[in-house]
Amino acid sequence: MEHAVAATPAWAVLAYLVAGVLFILALRGLSSPESSQAGNRNGMIGMLIAVGTTLALHPTGLPLIIGAIAIGGGIGWVIAQRIQMTAMPELVAGFHSLVGMAAVLVGCAAYLNPASFGIVDSAGAILGVSRVEMGLGVAIGAITFSGSIIAFLKLSGRMSGSPILLPGRHVLNLGVLVGILVLTGIFATDATAAAGQGPLLWIILALSFIIGVTLIIPIGGADMPVVISMLNSYSGWAAAAMGFTLQNTAMIITGALVGSSGAILSYIMCRAMNRSFISVIAGGFGADAGPAGEKGAAIQKSYKAGSADDAAFIMQNAESVIIVPGYGMAVSQAQHALREMGDLLKKEGVSVKYAIHPVAGRMPGHMNVLLAEANVPYDEVFELEDINSEFGQCDVAFVIGANDVTNPLAKTDKSSPIYGMPILDVEKAKTVLFVKRSMGGVGYAGVDNPVFYADNTMMLLADAKKMVENIVKGLNGGGH
Ligand code: NDP
Repeated sequence: MEHAVAATPAWAVLAYLVAGVLFILALRGLSSPESSQAGNRNGMIGMLIAVGTTLALHPTGLPLIIGAIAIGGGIGWVIAQRIQMTAMPELVAGFHSLVGMAAVLVGCAAYLNPASFGIVDSAGAILGVSRVEMGLGVAIGAITFSGSIIAFLKLSGRMSGSPILLPGRHVLNLGVLVGILVLTGIFATDATAAAGQGPLLWIILALSFIIGVTLIIPIGGADMPVVISMLNSYSGWAAAAMGFTLQNTAMIITGALVGSSGAILSYIMCRAMNRSFISVIAGGFGADAGPAGEKGAAIQKSYKAGSADDAAFIMQNAESVIIVPGYGMAVSQAQHALREMGDLLKKEGVSVKYAIHPVAGRMPGHMNVLLAEANVPYDEVFELEDINSEFGQCDVAFVIGANDVTNPLAKTDKSSPIYGMPILDVEKAKTVLFVKRSMGGVGYAGVDNPVFYADNTMMLLADAKKMVENIVKGLNGGGH
């Protein structure tokens, strides 16, 4: 049988190429806040061209495609309406699992009906190269699927966020990984597989589902940001694999772009967290921590609590204030009130800067997005390495809903799940103002923070937005 799928016409190849270039420009644009809108625009135009071209190439399939888009788009619409901003990370993990499953289904469909994918030779056997793509595509897709489900469960709190360490997990993971590769090699040369029969692909699939789970369950606590960007990368490679099976250039380019940019982001996150890339992807190397934190220890220690008016007074009389936002700012959506507070302080002649930890919040860039939404000027926002040395000279560190990213135990306590992570040295400021709702609440890693009990710390216990609104009132002279 000849290839059942006609070669892609030249105009479509060209259109896909243009889309690919636009995607590259989109990534480039997204690398800085100023150019990000243009970047997004390029990405959207590229996607429009890619989708339009694909639809034009398959006129007979249009009713099915439009029906599927309507169902998927409808479900996406409802989810987008309902989702809280703070649940974005688990939503992203959930969506990654769908990309993985799509790659699995495309690979399985191609295996079961190769002729309609145009991947058979003249004798009707599945081409060897297609079997390599299929084996790898199904494996990457399945790992992405099950890994993302575990990440979803961890991030949404349905499963414990702390590492689950199976005995001998490195040997197990390595063994399964080698098994998948060897089986894919056999699958590529096996005659029964060429005829679309035999159990090999299903064994590869099952092993990949398993390793997706065993790779992600040992990663916990403060390493989750790396997992998110890693699964993002996997989903890109899964899409690229689908592109090979479907012989769609745009999908191969897009998948490779997502895959490689996700890998670079994972590497950057690892560096930011002071973790070795290899150890995180190998599944929780170095996670053999002792007891996870000291929850509850807060009760015996004494701390100073203050009011919004106290905070307003202290900051009004300061020369410099560094604001450290964290996950709690996102929960309470305090960014607009915070910007207003910053504006008022600047009017009083106070220098105001924002310090952003690379893993503050629950997704990469979380704080930057929220501050940009509130129109905080970009030149007031600094990355950890650019501002950390300034805490020693600043009058006030105003920590709002951040916890783990300010915890000095990361520097000293080897048994802590955040040990080794660089942190913002807020404790070096003359005064630390710490906004959180109660002394009982802990951060993502579940560890207590000694800064709460330090002599130069004043706890401002309230919802972040309410507290900042009251501080704004105080700064406006409306305090009691
Ligand atoms: P943390 O999770 O360490 O701390 C959040 C703090 O906010 C808590 O102390 C909590 O205390 C407080 N808080 C919660 N809600 C409110 C509210 N409405 N008003 C006031 N305070 C509130 O946040 P950080 O940003 O410091 O650290 C991020 C952590 O998340 C790191 O461990 C990181 O590894 C992890 N992570 C990051 C991801 C990323 O990509 N950035 C992804 C996944 C995990 P209380 O309950 O008492 O109010």
